[in-house]
Amino acid sequence: MTTGTKAKTDFEVFKKSLAKDRYSESDIELLKRAYDVAEMAHEGQERRTGEPYFVHAFATATKLADLYLPAEIVAAGFLHDVAEDTEITIEELEAEFGEDIAGMVSSVTKLGHVKYRGIDRYVENLRKMFLAMAKDVRVVFIKFADRMHNMETLYMIPESKRLRIAKEVMEIYAPIANRIGMGEYRGLFEDYAFKYISPKEYNWTKHLLEQRVKKFGSSMDRALKDVDTELRKNNIIPDDLHGRIKFCYSLSKKLAMYGNDINKVYDIVALRIVVKDVSDCYAALGILHSVYKPLSGRIKDYIAQPKPNGYQSLHTTVFSDDGSILEFQIRTTEMHEAAEFGVAAHWRYKEKVSQDRQVMWMEDLAHIQKELKSTDFMDKLNELKLDMFQDRIFVFSPQGDVFDLPVGSTPIDFAYCVHTDVGNKAIGVKINDATANLDSTLKSGDMVEIILNQSRKNPNPEWLKFIKTHHARLKINESLRRDKKSLLRSLMNR
Ligand code: MN
Repeated sequence: MTTGTKAKTDFEVFKKSLAKDRYSESDIELLKRAYDVAEMAHEGQERRTGEPYFVHAFATATKLADLYLPAEIVAAGFLHDVAEDTEITIEELEAEFGEDIAGMVSSVTKLGHVKYRGIDRYVENLRKMFLAMAKDVRVVFIKFADRMHNMETLYMIPESKRLRIAKEVMEIYAPIANRIGMGEYRGLFEDYAFKYISPKEYNWTKHLLEQRVKKFGSSMDRALKDVDTELRKNNIIPDDLHGRIKFCYSLSKKLAMYGNDINKVYDIVALRIVVKDVSDCYAALGILHSVYKPLSGRIKDYIAQPKPNGYQSLHTTVFSDDGSILEFQIRTTEMHEAAEFGVAAHWRYKEKVSQDRQVMWMEDLAHIQKELKSTDFMDKLNELKLDMFQDRIFVFSPQGDVFDLPVGSTPIDFAYCVHTDVGNKAIGVKINDATANLDSTLKSGDMVEIILNQSRKNPNPEWLKFIKTHHARLKINESLRRDKKSLLRSLMNR
């Protein structure tokens, strides 16, 4: 069964898929104009996949509309390849759609030249992306939607090019998606890239996931129903209840940390309870624990103590009726949208003022953007470098994840930023492939590899003397408190 391309790219289909209350009549009129210009401009062009080029423009715009982003961004999505690949110029776009939309298209075209060329160019490429983000984060959303569609169709690209594109996505796009809190995009980017970079591991992990879902699917469904009933009995009406399956790449990394023992990974499938406010989150946790027995030491309050990237939720792991182990994640609708779509979620409600970390990040960016306004962004690139982010440094894990830390941070701060277990089990570090001390001062661009000892149980209390981040201090103190013997040892060492 084949669907005609015309049907695949029909404006009426697109219009029907739009969230009705998000786009006004004049928004839709703008989108139709952008659609018409893009369709005409790409007429007769084909992608390397053999499809008409307009299919790609259409898919990109659809992804942006799926993020509920404002109509100007979606319109720029339709037009994003017009200046690069067709007769139409930026000036003509400006005359038809105005400076703002033409400006976004022009920036996307310039970002198109950011390419992965091995480790030497890697930090430089990240800088470019960060700076593009600082100038106008909307351009990064368009670039993400564009690249996501390219990844969906990567199998049609010549094999020789696939690996380079997959690496670029793993090492540039996924870390940036993570940094701006777009969990869904990060997960999809990593999984698409993983599939081409390590096909064997990818298939193995995917199979494992499918087995788990088969095994626990019915008990999850039952638990969701039971929880819904219990919550309602206690006057908590959930906004949403759903199950989520871990992404392949994220599972594979976690498995590596636990010696490939799948029984130690409890969040392969998780159940999400989305409620209206924070007090309902804590109330729901209480109700859950009155129905199911929680596993000790597995309750995490990321609402009071958000993760470094701003993630908030309550996590708990419980024994279900049939003895299986289930992880629950409890959060508000706002936290849920922030976790899935990050900075993009905040663009949906521009008028809303919220004090959480991601908004603070946006404000930092807005500040940088102001400073940049008077100068040409591309000309300034080389001078500005990472100094823009005055009191933060950016360092990388060997897998290419980027972490931002305060100036003066040490490998131990980095380790706790990666994961509490990485911190607690750290015994050494390599910085840019050379052995270094755990109290060294990290610099922007460093690649940091923590050496672990899996049998190590507790952090070294001495670390408290040199670490810089509140997060590491909190986690070290927590681990030390948990073990009375360690506490005594730390008192004696003082
Ligand atoms: Mn494109």
